[in-house]
Amino acid sequence: MTEPRVPEDISDPHTVLQSVAAGLRARLEGEGRAGLTAVARPAPQAGEAEAVAEVRECPAAPAAGSISVIAPPPALSPEAIATTIKAEFAQQAPHAARTLDLFDFGSVPEDGAVSREEALARIAAEVAECERCRELAASRNRTVPGQGSPHTKLVFVGEGPGEEEDRQGLAFVGRAGELLTKMIEAIGLTREQVFICNIVKCRPPANRTPMPDEAANCMPYLARQLEIIRPRVICALGGTAAKWLLQTNDGITRLRGRFYPYRGAQLMPTFHPAYVLRNYTPDTRKKVYDDLLKVRAAMDAAGI
Ligand code: URA
Repeated sequence: MTEPRVPEDISDPHTVLQSVAAGLRARLEGEGRAGLTAVARPAPQAGEAEAVAEVRECPAAPAAGSISVIAPPPALSPEAIATTIKAEFAQQAPHAARTLDLFDFGSVPEDGAVSREEALARIAAEVAECERCRELAASRNRTVPGQGSPHTKLVFVGEGPGEEEDRQGLAFVGRAGELLTKMIEAIGLTREQVFICNIVKCRPPANRTPMPDEAANCMPYLARQLEIIRPRVICALGGTAAKWLLQTNDGITRLRGRFYPYRGAQLMPTFHPAYVLRNYTPDTRKKVYDDLLKVRAAMDAAGI
């Protein structure tokens, strides 16, 4: 088995992590494994930093292998490690990052040099150029990176842009979006106070469900957006968002209505507004409203 190798010269975090990433990629490819988890944390010795990257079948499964790098500061600050591992895997191994699960939000401090607005704008610019999914890139009119407050504590994640979103380059601006606006207002907020985005940033043709490889290709953008915003509460709209965020095959009917821990945030799955529009019954509407009230209560409890 290819072991990720740590180079002799560990003074440059980028070199160290490139090497770690290359080894992990080789191992993932060799073993046909999908998914990795990488964390940066303080090392056992005071004043040192440690980078650990673990290969897992899925977040809930035991690690299938791990590599850790320990070096004295200032060569490897946890932030440098975090940033570099993330960039490596997002760019070079998106296929391996199927269950990309990098860092609690809290462990990546705000980069003082770049505002959240700027950091999100950079991701949007990358998304605009993205051609990872050939079919989606060829058929889209606009990319839809997501929009809203970079400083919000509440993020809504849907499935993928529809026709109107593809036309405007904005998430949830069609009929489902109108209902989402009402859902947000039902808990005393406005669209401008939250962030709204999707699992995939390009419209799947004929609004089909995103393919697993499309979701895997696009998830690193969402992961980076969430790291920048660091929300306390995430509302997953519909089964596709819940599936890819929680890495589960359980359906939305089973998942909805309770919180799941998600990288330092609480994640509430609820029905997708498009589903609610198709099943506009008192029962469905009450269930969504109950879920939203729990979101509101969680924010109130956290003093947000
Ligand atoms: N449905 C989604 O999941 N996302 C949108 O942006 C619009 C409709």
